[in-house]
Amino acid sequence: MLPTTIAGSLPKPAWLAEPIALWAPWRFEGEALEQAKRDAVLVALKVQEAAGIDIVSDGEQFRQHFVHGFLEHIEGLDFVNKKRIGIRADRYQADCPVVVGPIARRGPIHAEEARFTRANTTRKLKFTLPGPMTIVDTIADEHYGERPKLAMEFARLLNEEAHDLQAAGVDVIQLDEPAFNVYMDEVSGWGIEALERAFEGITVKKAIHICYGYGIKANNDWKGTLGEEWRQYEQTFPVLAGSSIDQVSLECAGSRVPLPVLELLAGKELLLGVIDVATDKIETPGEVAATIRAAMKYAPVEKIIPCTNCGMVPLSREVSLGKLRALSDGAAIVRGEMAG
Ligand code: ZN
Repeated sequence: MLPTTIAGSLPKPAWLAEPIALWAPWRFEGEALEQAKRDAVLVALKVQEAAGIDIVSDGEQFRQHFVHGFLEHIEGLDFVNKKRIGIRADRYQADCPVVVGPIARRGPIHAEEARFTRANTTRKLKFTLPGPMTIVDTIADEHYGERPKLAMEFARLLNEEAHDLQAAGVDVIQLDEPAFNVYMDEVSGWGIEALERAFEGITVKKAIHICYGYGIKANNDWKGTLGEEWRQYEQTFPVLAGSSIDQVSLECAGSRVPLPVLELLAGKELLLGVIDVATDKIETPGEVAATIRAAMKYAPVEKIIPCTNCGMVPLSREVSLGKLRALSDGAAIVRGEMAG
């Protein structure tokens, strides 16, 4: 009951990449970099296992960024002449690769990484990929011209990749779709269609992660404009409830998401965000337990999987370690109460 997991990323060791930075440059090149990444994955697994996390990930140590890590290997994109564009409805600017021709996948992208990670843990393993709507929002398109069309093309490539990951032995495949919290009106149309296409034929657990982003200034400013109650999920959860997705990840720690929205996901497993990644303050196990108990008023306990709100890549290793322990210890408190 109440197995714990993380949204996906963990901080990278300082010897691998600059800490507390997004898009941090690697400190190595070539084979030395490949070895360093694998070593960092071993650390990430050990840290999660020692903290008592049940469903672990590679900590996204293999990739520089959660979207561009996948895109770097896609044909039809220009990664050399990136273009600075406003993303997430212009919330912030990012240097993005440009779609210059038909996109294609040369072969498996993350399968070898998944196999390496699988071989080094006996715990359940989750692997993350960027969702199609978030990809098209993190890219400058100069070829397809229409976002839904480009999203469906990416969904086809993601589906091939998901089948390779499934064959590599992962237990959960998660698509990260923060864009679902930005373009809510488009989710019920092409957003969900592209998501379903990306998961076609997948038989392991299918998860989607929707969040309010890392704790960077642009996101914190944006959250300040969302009002007393954050009701974005209210539009997307009914759509997801009617989909084939098994697990939905949502923010509940330190956020203004009204918990009754959980009822909109009846039947689905909830990756319940009980750890706030937008602050260095480490939750106490008691606070984590309180968030889980609050959610249990709106969702059956057997559907709840305590999780982090979002990725922990921009945090320090010390803070993330403390938060992993709080997550695990907080879930254990509620488990104990249920057993007693
Ligand atoms: Zn997130």
